Amino acid sequence: MKSLEELTRKNIWSLAPYSSARNEYAGREARVFLDANENPYNQPFNRYPDPLQLELKEVLGKLKRVPAECIFLGNGSDEAIDLPYRCFCEPGRDNVVAIEPTYGMYKVCADINDIEYRPVLLDGCYQTTAEKLLAATDEHTKIIWLCTPNNPTGNCLDRDEVLKVIQQFEGLVIVDEAYSDFSGQQPLRTELGKYPNLIVLNTMSKAWGCAAIRLGMAFASKEIIGIFNKVKYPYNINLLSQQQALEALKRPIDVEEWVRILLQERGRMMEAFSILPICEKVYPTDANFFLAKMTDATKIYNYLVDRGIIVRNRTRVQLCDNCLRITIGTKSENSELLSALRQYQ
Ligand SMILES: *Cc1c(COP(=O)(O)O)cnc(C)c1O
Repeated sequence: MKSLEELTRKNIWSLAPYSSARNEYAGREARVFLDANENPYNQPFNRYPDPLQLELKEVLGKLKRVPAECIFLGNGSDEAIDLPYRCFCEPGRDNVVAIEPTYGMYKVCADINDIEYRPVLLDGCYQTTAEKLLAATDEHTKIIWLCTPNNPTGNCLDRDEVLKVIQQFEGLVIVDEAYSDFSGQQPLRTELGKYPNLIVLNTMSKAWGCAAIRLGMAFASKEIIGIFNKVKYPYNINLLSQQQALEALKRPIDVEEWVRILLQERGRMMEAFSILPICEKVYPTDANFFLAKMTDATKIYNYLVDRGIIVRNRTRVQLCDNCLRITIGTKSENSELLSALRQYQ
């Protein structure tokens, strides 16, 4: 790996971050807060929230088995996807490599930050190799984006190839594990200690059922997390989200139960799809959704919309011709979808 200084934009490496009132007193006992121009009334919403979300990171760290200092919390994964561009990629000069198809935000954030985005097409089994990805890099490649289980394809990338990329690439490898709770594969975040160039993304939006509170996370070396902390907005996670996340984290049993039911339903749905006359193929998945190749995805999509049922039409995505992406819902929602599709002609 190149040094972190080489990988970081010069202006960011030398940045003196904003120091908030709460940063400066942090760690000492206090009773009277007259430092932040807050209103003393309307508790608890009158006070700025913890800029580093330490209580939440302690709880999350235990659950995820990652030290609190190796955790960054963002306003959704969206923030954790945008920040690496702002920290490491020089607009108009640097580039990133990513698998194709994959989650759309990696490219949107590259475009916003004026960073060249180099897609590497997956093969027919939605897999790739370290060799292909590394061949797309040059001396200006700062990041390789991987998503496993991948969205919209649903499958996990070959773990050996992912590890090869991490070991052989000189820059940063960001592995988005938004769906890892639904997968039998061992999450890569447990191997952070071995790979200083690895950043793993997780989110509260999927298995944890908290998309509304906007809480995404990045796990990485404490040096990389330190750079993110310099660049992020000082109070990027509001009090309500921090409180709600702490509540959710008290109930990991609920999440296990939700995942168990969703995986069971996923099995039922995939089986039912595979015998629908209008379904040509059901792709294997490790996530809470699956991809299905239909006879005519757009017609079927519109038919479902007319009945108040929304799925994702992926037909215009490369390698996903005539594919619908089906999220697993409750048993009754899933049954409604199936009965609508059985009546389709
Ligand atoms: C849904 C999803 C996320 C979650 O994004 P949030 O901003 O945390 O809601 C992240 N990555 C992938 C690949 C996803 O599909």
